[in-house]
Amino acid sequence: MQVSTISASIVTPNGTVYEGNVHMISVRATGGDMGILPNHIPIVAPLKISAVKLQKEDAPDEYVAVSGGFIEVRKGSVVTILTEAAERKEDIDTERAQRAKEQAQQRLSELNENTIEFKEAKQELERAENRLHVASL
Ligand code: ATP
Repeated sequence: MQVSTISASIVTPNGTVYEGNVHMISVRATGGDMGILPNHIPIVAPLKISAVKLQKEDAPDEYVAVSGGFIEVRKGSVVTILTEAAERKEDIDTERAQRAKEQAQQRLSELNENTIEFKEAKQELERAENRLHVASL
């Protein structure tokens, strides 16, 4: 069945962060940027720590910060993004993200590059920078 909108949801272990009918979803997959339109072929793809853009025809674009995860496109234009953490642009606490960014930078300057802690701090920095970026869109 051909449909003209996508039924989109962004789901985390803490609950659903976004649910709505949209005309296009833009995501950053590990393999590159993807724009999903209605009737897209079914896929599953891993996402980077990045911004998800949700476009409607008659409303302003919406943005959600995601901490990686997966996008699943199913038949009938049903799209689910499943991720560890996600925040809508307007729910991002920029002071908290700025603090997290500074803490991660501090830790990175103190840690040895070959440790798991260093990798974790790099991910923390990426999440904080992504939140600051999405809040500024
Ligand atoms: P922090 O060090 O500030 O906790 P973090 O990257 O370690 O940041 P996460 O583990 O990714 O945080 O997320 C924990 C929970 O807090 C999630 O529900 C996430 O959506 C929320 N969260 C994290 N940072 C922010 C923020 N700046 N604004 C709003 N919600 C946030």
